[in-house]
Amino acid sequence: MVAEILVIGAGPVGLTLACELARHGVRARIIDRLDAPSTYCRAIGVTPRTLEVMEDMGIVRELVDAGLWLTGMRLILPGAPAKDLTLDLSDLPFAQLGAPQYATEAVLTAHLSSYGISIERGTALADLRQDADGVDVELDTPNGRERALFRYVVGCDGAHSAVRKALGIGFEGDAFPMEFMLGDVHIDWDLPRGMTLRAIRPVEDAPPDLFVAIPLPERGRYRVSAAAPARLAAPPGSGTDHGIQADRPGATLDDLQEVADRLLPEHATLSDLRWSSIFRISMRLADKYRVGNAFIAGDACHIHPPTGGQGMNTGIQDAYNLAWKLALVVQGRASDALLDSYEAERRPVAEDVIARTTEASVNLGREGRKAPPDRLADTQILVSYAGGPLSAGPGNANLRPGDRVPDVPGLRRDGFGFPLRLFELLRGTRYVLLVPLADGDTWKVEACAATLRQMFPDLVRVIAIAPGDAPVEEPSGVELVHDASGAFRTVFGEGGLWLVRPDGYLGLHSESSSECAVVGYLRDVVGLRAS
Ligand SMILES: Cc1cc2nc3c(=O)[nH]c(=O)nc-3n(C[C@H](O)[C@H](O)[C@H](O)COP(=O)(O)OP(=O)(O)OC[C@H]3O[C@@H](n4cnc5c(N)ncnc54)[C@H](O)[C@@H]3O)c2cc1C
Repeated sequence: MVAEILVIGAGPVGLTLACELARHGVRARIIDRLDAPSTYCRAIGVTPRTLEVMEDMGIVRELVDAGLWLTGMRLILPGAPAKDLTLDLSDLPFAQLGAPQYATEAVLTAHLSSYGISIERGTALADLRQDADGVDVELDTPNGRERALFRYVVGCDGAHSAVRKALGIGFEGDAFPMEFMLGDVHIDWDLPRGMTLRAIRPVEDAPPDLFVAIPLPERGRYRVSAAAPARLAAPPGSGTDHGIQADRPGATLDDLQEVADRLLPEHATLSDLRWSSIFRISMRLADKYRVGNAFIAGDACHIHPPTGGQGMNTGIQDAYNLAWKLALVVQGRASDALLDSYEAERRPVAEDVIARTTEASVNLGREGRKAPPDRLADTQILVSYAGGPLSAGPGNANLRPGDRVPDVPGLRRDGFGFPLRLFELLRGTRYVLLVPLADGDTWKVEACAATLRQMFPDLVRVIAIAPGDAPVEEPSGVELVHDASGAFRTVFGEGGLWLVRPDGYLGLHSESSSECAVVGYLRDVVGLRAS
């Protein structure tokens, strides 16, 4: 089968996109210019929302096994006792994970192989043009130049994206004047496992002096970062690129130890430096995410400070947003206009991430910060597409169309020995219509499910949720669960219809229990082709 989609770049974003397209039934080609994956550890923080995405993809256990839970942060400021800050996330399905980016990429690569797809390595995009037939690309492969035509191309090719440049998309923003050093070291100290450490000394009219240590899964190992000393700085006029400066010498163990000695209240011995590097930070946002049949995602669209661990996670969620839409269009189930919602939904998310991470970085350790950020903002579960082109209906006080549908425990299904979570029921690639059941309206749900089955075959599952434990006859063609704990009704209330998108966000809320609103929404708002 000829691939209709080319994914350029096999970092975490390109890998997620190719895996998700495959899960939705579309086989893409994926290329990367590197012969082997990068061994630098950039991202470590994996947000609770990304873990929810990984659960839907079926790889959350593999990722959790490859990481360690990040339990909190020890903050050391001058003249004050060290403060341990913890974040209680016990009301969410997942906590905050730490997994080195190469481990996350390895889990995604293995998952992609399970679909029979491998990364075409040593293959770089050389040229890209579009015409009415699709996207014409030239690739430099290990066997020479290859020319190929694709219906859609997605550039997941990082901050210096060749796709973004070929599409002429602007990428305006600023750069931090300073450079940072990174190192993977062993540290002897009494910091509890799973805690990160941030020691900051503000400097008048200049960036703060800082030492940050983030734990890696191997006991005693940390990825440390600090401002780079002048000795390692780039010569004036050079080194202005974002990211790791792989072509320049990194820090020595002595460079890192010196900062630790300067900023930590008690001596901590750093040893066994495995790798080090210098990195630079810019804050930039692409003007557009789509030109014709070519898209960009991840760092190709947005770059910003690593504070709060948002970049890779935001990119993974770009891919999760785009994949199901692309799959529906390529399979002829939806019109191409659905793909415009990708930029409309994801660009404002990146805008917010850039603003939050830039402010957090500029204000590191300074007094007089504005109100502390929402405890949940960095978990990314607050990301919402409310007000976006695919969000319709009134919602209630807990949930607006466009919001992430929260998990709900304590659902019982006949024949299942133990309670189920809502997320277990939502898993899969289809829309899910949740219908809180009221007395005697079982037949209405049956009729609704039959209409949707006939008009949109295999695209919508219908789940009826009966109150309490009272026996209800299972409607035909409808999954029936009992809200035994009452937790479902606490969030969704009584009556109405709640249509959950394939990526777990609420698409439509209708106060009426007639299927007309659902049919109209899927046909006219989402652009699904009805049969
Ligand atoms: C120090 C540091 C710490 C960070 N910490 C975190 C964190 O804790 N959490 C977090 O979420 N994010 C973090 N980030 C950000 C994170 O690393 C990036 O957001 C993430 O790597 C972006 O993924 P991507 O797939 O978009 O791009 P990349 O990871 O850059 O992957 C792009 C891929 O495209 C390939 N490529 C490029 N050009 C071409 C071409 N022309 N043809 C073919 N292939 C090409 C490259 O070889 C590469 O494999 C951190 C970044 C840094 C520097």
